[in-house]
Amino acid sequence: MVGGGTAGWMTAAALSRLLPHQCEITLVESEAIGIVGVGEATLPHIRGFNERLGIPEAEFMAATRATIKLGIEFNDWGRIGDSYVHPFGTFGNARGAVDFHHYWTRLRQAGLPVDDLQEYSLGVRLARANRFDFPSQDGESLRSTYGYAYQFDAMQFAPYLRGIAERAGVKRIEGRIVAVERSPESGDVTAVQLDNGRNVGGELFVDCSGFGSLLLGRTLSESFEDWSQWLPCDSAVAVPCRTETALSPFTSATAMGAGWRWRIPLQHRTGNGYVYSSAHLDDDSARAALLAVVEGEPMAEPRVLRFRAGRRARSWSHNVVGVGLASGFLEPLESTSIYLIQQAITFLVELFPAGAASPSDRDEFNRLIDLEYDRIRDFLILHYHATTRSDSSFWDYVRTMAIPDSLAEKIELFRRRGRVVKYREGVFLDASWVAVYLGQGIMPEGHDRRADLPDEAALVAAMTALRQQIAAEVAATTEHRRFLDHYCPMR
Ligand code: FAD
Repeated sequence: MVGGGTAGWMTAAALSRLLPHQCEITLVESEAIGIVGVGEATLPHIRGFNERLGIPEAEFMAATRATIKLGIEFNDWGRIGDSYVHPFGTFGNARGAVDFHHYWTRLRQAGLPVDDLQEYSLGVRLARANRFDFPSQDGESLRSTYGYAYQFDAMQFAPYLRGIAERAGVKRIEGRIVAVERSPESGDVTAVQLDNGRNVGGELFVDCSGFGSLLLGRTLSESFEDWSQWLPCDSAVAVPCRTETALSPFTSATAMGAGWRWRIPLQHRTGNGYVYSSAHLDDDSARAALLAVVEGEPMAEPRVLRFRAGRRARSWSHNVVGVGLASGFLEPLESTSIYLIQQAITFLVELFPAGAASPSDRDEFNRLIDLEYDRIRDFLILHYHATTRSDSSFWDYVRTMAIPDSLAEKIELFRRRGRVVKYREGVFLDASWVAVYLGQGIMPEGHDRRADLPDEAALVAAMTALRQQIAAEVAATTEHRRFLDHYCPMR
């Protein structure tokens, strides 16, 4: 394995735990090169990853200074002044055949008194109230309608996983790779050469070398599909600050003149960053704009990072599997990078070769990874494109740019009858799309006909009762900081 950032140590920990005695793992990393060191907001799927590895939640949260994340708050996206939460969960209380937003749309279209859809989500209400308790496993309970993820210190996560991996037998070698050897017959990678002259050979190489993409990109010349015409942000300036406001159980993404800024509260500090398009804003202006709005004393000098939206045409080529930034990057607007790492690991474990990999296994891996990237790409583009903002050249560009057909079809489907393209599994199911469509002002013209069946007065009464139930549930939960102090205080 090449690289010991989040991707490298997640992969090493998972392979050593999930395929014990089936492979010998050696990981090469260079402290001099270091890791990208950002990547603090996650999706709920990470809990499944941790569970499969037997990681105790409270210990993990304490070690990584983690807070709870119930969703993402989007400010100023559809219009300046707008604010909505994309919650990890659903709207309403039922998991019936018809999604809740169809009933809501019906009443709204009839001019009846309904509140903003956001008010009918327990996850949103908890987030806005800075409160949390564990969701219920009982699918009938209102408390089962929300999920959660973590916000954690990226610099603590990889070392924590390293401990797990090394205890499971992973060998770590410190050193900078200066050359890569390949078989003249097959073109497969056979060994990497370190700056001290040492050679490290292997059968299968996992490239977790970050943006440099040492094996997949530089050695195998796997082409990069560039998506920056749709996702023009290519830079970020990041700065941590002291937490001086309430510890919110959500990540904030606030739209700015040439992109957006994140705010991620951790137990010991708050992460901030401005993701921007360098074609629309220079670094000094981005730095100044960020420092002008951070809500606490900066704890370090602002750091600028560069990237490009897109992915390698194939994530698995020859005997090299790219995981993490080495295989592609989509900006952190919906916190998807660690999720993509996790999915790559899951598919790799499922398709792990006994000996040489077969072309069909490689193709299947690449097909599955492409599906993940494509879906996330469309979801991210939606946030930019569904805006009425015209206050800068950046917003004019994203509002009027041509979008992928796959996204145009999804938007049209929703606009007509509130229908969301169905995904059975994976990331961003119906409620996520509904949150962003409605949050950014795309209102459906119609609704699912089955939502017309209940009596109108009974439906209005049920909506009112639901709001009261949600308020009672919120009141019964614990203030977020108190929850953390009790469950996983920092050591
Ligand atoms: P890196 O951390 O860069 O690790 C690369 C490793 O390869 C290092 O160990 C390095 O030493 C090693 N290496 C490289 N070259 C050599 C060599 N020649 N010899 C030896 N070793 C070498 N993701 C999220 O999920 N949520 C977020 O909120 C989020 N926010 C982000 C914000 C920004 C601005 C950016 C840029 C990314 C963000 N990400 C986020 C993405 C996230 O940071 C990465 O997906 C994650 O950290 C994985 O990085 P990595 O391990 O692939 O690469």
